[in-house]
Amino acid sequence: MKQLLRFMSSVVLIAMISLGVMPMAKANEPGAHVHGMATLEIAIDGAAVQINLGSPLDNLLGFERAPRNEKERQSVKAMALRLYQADTLFIFTPAAQCRLESTRLESAVLAPSLLAPAPDSGKSGDTAKADTSDVHAELAATWHFQCAVPQALQGVEVHLFQKFSSLKRIDAAVVGPKGQSSAKLSPKSTRLKW
Ligand SMILES: [Zn+2]
Repeated sequence: MKQLLRFMSSVVLIAMISLGVMPMAKANEPGAHVHGMATLEIAIDGAAVQINLGSPLDNLLGFERAPRNEKERQSVKAMALRLYQADTLFIFTPAAQCRLESTRLESAVLAPSLLAPAPDSGKSGDTAKADTSDVHAELAATWHFQCAVPQALQGVEVHLFQKFSSLKRIDAAVVGPKGQSSAKLSPKSTRLKW
């Protein structure tokens, strides 16, 4: 029964997102691209937590185009690795026992193979997509967590600033059991409560 409920709540969450009921982030919203700033949207529905990050690539990588050499390729992979380790980026109320289920990373200027979780060996395709200079680009990350004790979930500690030092401010929005709220996070203010 509990399994069924958990399944049902996931279905409802997915349905709500795809129907556009929930204000999920669009990473490339016009005018939203400011270096040092990022947006975070957290949707809690029962045991399921979805987090969307939209950030200029500059905050995470230091450049906003396809990598041009091996050093830059390694930088992209190091960034992706940090983002895949989302249990070190988002520290939920421990008693809620939230577990990372999936991670998705997307950027218009980075080949999917560079953002893949498994290390790739070949170089083919890594320079795919437009290598346009002087154009801004973003990264969108989506994480799904599942919490074993969702009623214990009261908030999250956001550790993105420690991992990405160019990041200075995050505009965060939460849709949770108590409705919607928003907060501005900074290296000195990293806690979201709901
Ligand atoms: Zn930029």
